[in-house]
Amino acid sequence: MIRYTLHKCKLLVLLPLFICTSFSPLIQDSIDLQPHNLRLEDDEPDGADSTFYIILDTNALYPAYAIYGDSWSHTEVNPYRASPAGMSGAIFINLAGYTHPKHSVITSRFGFRRWKFHYGIDLRLSVGDSVRCAFDGRVRIARRGKAYGNYVVVRHYNGLETTYAHLSKMLVKVNDEVRSGDLIGWGGNTGRSTGPHLHYEMRYLGQAIDPMLLIDFETGKPYANSFLLTASHFAYVKEVEKMRYWVVRSGDSLWTIARKTGASVEYLCSTNGISRASTLRLGQRIRYR
Ligand SMILES: [Zn+2]
Repeated sequence: MIRYTLHKCKLLVLLPLFICTSFSPLIQDSIDLQPHNLRLEDDEPDGADSTFYIILDTNALYPAYAIYGDSWSHTEVNPYRASPAGMSGAIFINLAGYTHPKHSVITSRFGFRRWKFHYGIDLRLSVGDSVRCAFDGRVRIARRGKAYGNYVVVRHYNGLETTYAHLSKMLVKVNDEVRSGDLIGWGGNTGRSTGPHLHYEMRYLGQAIDPMLLIDFETGKPYANSFLLTASHFAYVKEVEKMRYWVVRSGDSLWTIARKTGASVEYLCSTNGISRASTLRLGQRIRYR
């Protein structure tokens, strides 16, 4: 919350200017400027002093403004170019009021998935099942992507962002204010998906964290009311950056790729989920490190 003190006469002059300069990106993004986001308060009810306070609840417009500023992309899951892996100290994340988006069996965890990294948790569901919002916040993205299918990203006041992917139908739109437990959409099988499931991500400053560190997926409740996020929770990023791929060209075989990259055929097979008898496709990406 930002508090400005101005005298009444200055207020009349400065206020329109202030609104124009401060909220121009919002106007472009056509967020409704609700009256509660900008209000004038007379701090002296008896009127003895003509001092006014402009109270800007910036969090209501851009949740977690202190962390993200006015960055508010409707297309990029991680537009921030931040590297929380290098942060010092700890960030306090308030987990009170959490709603588990979908109580179900985990079909894939966060982490290395042989040839790629899985940035979320997969939860089995049936097409049309309810998917609910994890915390209060505002919808930043609601669109269709090649891999995610229909997906929604919500920015929360506690500093996290959550992603809900492969939905059959999205029931919110960009800039909607949402509460914990609100219906985000219906589960589905859209995008790069081999069966109906919810791909659920938690991110801080665009970088994914393992939701299972914060949430007990058995009970659907946080382990505690808060979580201290540190650089150690992003240690995997360095490992991901070390991953290397070979793009299959004419004449390539597992043996030639092994020779050129220095990886063993066994490693190529186990890392890429293939066997020695597998036929390689031209353009196929083979992870060798
Ligand atoms: Zn997934």
